[in-house]
Amino acid sequence: MNMNKDVLIIGGGPAGMAAAIWCQRLGIDHLLIEKNEKLGGQLFHIHNKVIDYPGVLANNGKDIQQSFVSHLEDLGCQFLVSTSIERLDMNEKRALVNHQGKKYSITFQYLIAATGSSPKRLDVPGEKEMIERKEVYSATKDASKFNNKRVAVIGGGDRAFEGALILAEHGAFVYLIHRSTRFRARDEYVKPVLNHSNIVLLTNTVITKIIGKHHVTAVEVMTNDQKKLLEVDGVFIRIGGKPNSELISSFVKTDLDGYVIVDEHCRTSHENIFAIGDVCMRPLYSSIVTSASHGMIAAKHISLLMKDNQNH
Ligand SMILES: Cc1cc2nc3c(=O)[nH]c(=O)nc-3n(C[C@H](O)[C@H](O)[C@H](O)COP(=O)(O)OP(=O)(O)OC[C@H]3O[C@@H](n4cnc5c(N)ncnc54)[C@H](O)[C@@H]3O)c2cc1C
Repeated sequence: MNMNKDVLIIGGGPAGMAAAIWCQRLGIDHLLIEKNEKLGGQLFHIHNKVIDYPGVLANNGKDIQQSFVSHLEDLGCQFLVSTSIERLDMNEKRALVNHQGKKYSITFQYLIAATGSSPKRLDVPGEKEMIERKEVYSATKDASKFNNKRVAVIGGGDRAFEGALILAEHGAFVYLIHRSTRFRARDEYVKPVLNHSNIVLLTNTVITKIIGKHHVTAVEVMTNDQKKLLEVDGVFIRIGGKPNSELISSFVKTDLDGYVIVDEHCRTSHENIFAIGDVCMRPLYSSIVTSASHGMIAAKHISLLMKDNQNH
């Protein structure tokens, strides 16, 4: 089956969902495509309270996800889940998509990339196996599993320091491992971490291997060329994120870390491609509210371009 849409939105996180809402509001024929079974993106990874999205005090990201999705459904926004893009042809402005084994060709005038970001990996032996065994934990949700156990938390930012504190407060013994002696974490986390009796901070230290056949049993670390083993029951990798820009990176300019470069209207270097949310926003400023606002800006700007095109 073939389809033709004025706007194709790729990615159903907060940015893509906001773009769909604004397309609907502005009367733009649109389709949002999400590869996962449900819309929501990183909202599913937020297990703590969300207190910084105006008008909503939510117990977790899933609560916000539900209200976003109901909003889209109530307005009649067009979206497909469990749908992946197999190929993008920008000469023909065509996407080849696979929806549950069925292939569609979708042509479009404008593409909005809202593909978000993913956690960075360590790229060390044992990490892939650990992730495949689903030993990926949330400090907030899973802390009680590590009471009286040893864990390694890796990173030097807020998420690593906050995670180490939560785990230590729940009775875990924490090795907080960071590759340098400088931390990006806020003072409100750094001071309590340094003073916590259950946290050992290992600086100038990198993880070289994650060990364990059926579950994690230890990590190999290296400090100043000296390797040693630390027995642990869990590993929390908190070294930041990377933009999911692979799909469009051959068509648009990105910076050295792969973030798509956009102007104030979320326009990329390709006149038919817009990028919104975490795929173009570094972690310091990434949030639900920034992603949603990008969705509005891109949809509005596209509506103006479409009006201009009609008038010429
Ligand atoms: C643990 C955690 C806690 C957080 N806490 C907060 C908080 O308290 N407050 C706050 O404001 N922000 C918080 N954030 C950040 C916030 O969740 C993100 O900034 C926001 O979700 C980014 O939205 P996005 O739509 O740009 O991307 P994402 O949420 O990453 O969504 C991108 C979507 O695109 C889909 N996708 C990717 N590639 C393709 C493709 N090729 N085809 C189809 N679909 C694709 C993905 O499956 C995903 O669903 C938190 C994030 C995390 C991880």
